[in-house]
Amino acid sequence: MAKVQIPHPVYTLSLPYRPQTRSHAAAKKATLRIRFVIVGGGAAGLACAVALRRVGHQVIVLEKDLNFVGSSKRRGIRMPPNMTKIFNYWGMSGDVDDIGTPVDRLIISRLENAYLLGIHQWEYELVQEAGGEFTAVSHYRLRKLLLEAAVELGAVIRTNAEVVEIAADCRSLRLASGEVIQADVIIGADGNRGLCRKLLCPNDPPNGTGVMLFDSVIPGDSIRADPELSSLLQREQVSQWAWFGHERASLCCPIGPSQDLDLAFHFYAIDDGATEGWDDILSPEQFAPYLSGTEPRIQKLGRLARPTRVRMMERTFPEEWVHETGRLVIVGSAAHPFPPAVMYGPSMSLEDASVLAKLFSHLGREEQIRSFLYAFQNLREGRCQSNRALDIGNIKFMMVPTGEMTEMRDKMMRARYDQGRNVLEDGTVAQWDRNRELFGYDAEDEADNWWVQWGLLQERARAAHLENGVRLDLFALDVNMRIA
Ligand SMILES: Cc1cc2nc3c(=O)[nH]c(=O)nc-3n(C[C@H](O)[C@H](O)[C@H](O)COP(=O)(O)OP(=O)(O)OC[C@H]3O[C@@H](n4cnc5c(N)ncnc54)[C@H](O)[C@@H]3O)c2cc1C
Repeated sequence: MAKVQIPHPVYTLSLPYRPQTRSHAAAKKATLRIRFVIVGGGAAGLACAVALRRVGHQVIVLEKDLNFVGSSKRRGIRMPPNMTKIFNYWGMSGDVDDIGTPVDRLIISRLENAYLLGIHQWEYELVQEAGGEFTAVSHYRLRKLLLEAAVELGAVIRTNAEVVEIAADCRSLRLASGEVIQADVIIGADGNRGLCRKLLCPNDPPNGTGVMLFDSVIPGDSIRADPELSSLLQREQVSQWAWFGHERASLCCPIGPSQDLDLAFHFYAIDDGATEGWDDILSPEQFAPYLSGTEPRIQKLGRLARPTRVRMMERTFPEEWVHETGRLVIVGSAAHPFPPAVMYGPSMSLEDASVLAKLFSHLGREEQIRSFLYAFQNLREGRCQSNRALDIGNIKFMMVPTGEMTEMRDKMMRARYDQGRNVLEDGTVAQWDRNRELFGYDAEDEADNWWVQWGLLQERARAAHLENGVRLDLFALDVNMRIA
């Protein structure tokens, strides 16, 4: 029987995701506009589509899944200020308010007995300084928002469009249907096991962190119906909740618009054989043994949850994010895989998009493409490395085995709380305290600084070369820019 061809649906303004009109803030447009083909419609791919359309480039996103937005319906994401500020730059702060809730403080207790260790309130000045708020949303709503914005800005999004081959010169790619698509630049946003990542990182040993995550979103109605749990979703001051335990830990965060909050429930334990995907869904009975000996609220949450069990991985960062042709770059979890349900993972994808588009807003000549792509890796690699280490450190810190060290830590935190002070200030909890400085990062500024320091230098050197016959080795300048 002949195989039935399913077309590649293209999302347009009239299709299911009906966008509202947003006030996309104006951005400087590139004088040379090129065609970017993005492989993958996850948060990273869609964010790149939004950012590159804003600066005037053509964008096509190829996504293999038909239901790529709906597949992440029951998951929660914490968006730190370094991420929400990017939406602010894009003129989308109202959209973030519509889908998320600002979270003001963190309440920390012991996992075994609910003993309160302390409270940390994000200071008003910190939030002002950072230029964005700490906001919690569902993964689904975030992807849907990015999809709507990308379509509204004129990106073409094609689903059921699996890329199966990339040409050696990276100027075209072939879909499973046989169709060939031409590109000026290919952006590999196809995740931590995708084709583009494999091109640049053929040896990719799957290193576990030793920790597994049980990830779930519990509907708000069932939380509010239980007097013992209802405070977890209090609206007066929306709080994030953390429980520190012996080789286990938990984090809860209200997600969604404030009138319709659900609870994202993350539980961490020592990995006893979890898998990396998102389809190992546990029943309450299967989950119960992992929760034994925890405080009553956690046990109740466990009974309400249908968690997905995911192995937390620490996959390799490829040495090169840019293909030798200078026409393909990897972004998001293809370049810097983060474990799931950590603070900074999704925000790194938005920063990637913001930096990449800011660089390509200066595109005036084809020869700049390669150096912009190298600059992108240069600007992003160190920050992603250190944030991932911090994220993994934060999770492990919450589950340090009980002993002298944890007793001391807990006593110090409680003492601060009794004095009416923030528990995470002044480096008492060194790992968590660093979050503060990371919120202030400004992806657009980073790209601007590079342009002023290196991009313009290269342009001036070229102009001198053309006008005065000055012999300058532009390739050497390119290499130096990579090293700097
Ligand atoms: C279903 C799902 C649910 C997730 N839920 C959470 C969560 O709750 N919390 C969390 O912190 N992180 C979650 N993640 C991971 C999170 O999205 C990423 O870590 C992060 O946001 C960066 O995303 P990304 O776009 O780089 O990669 P991904 O989110 O992995 O997206 C990659 C996309 O590329 C597509 N793709 C792959 N290969 C091809 C190909 N050959 N052709 C075309 N398309 C291709 C995939 O279908 C996918 O949509 C989830 C990922 C997925 C896929």
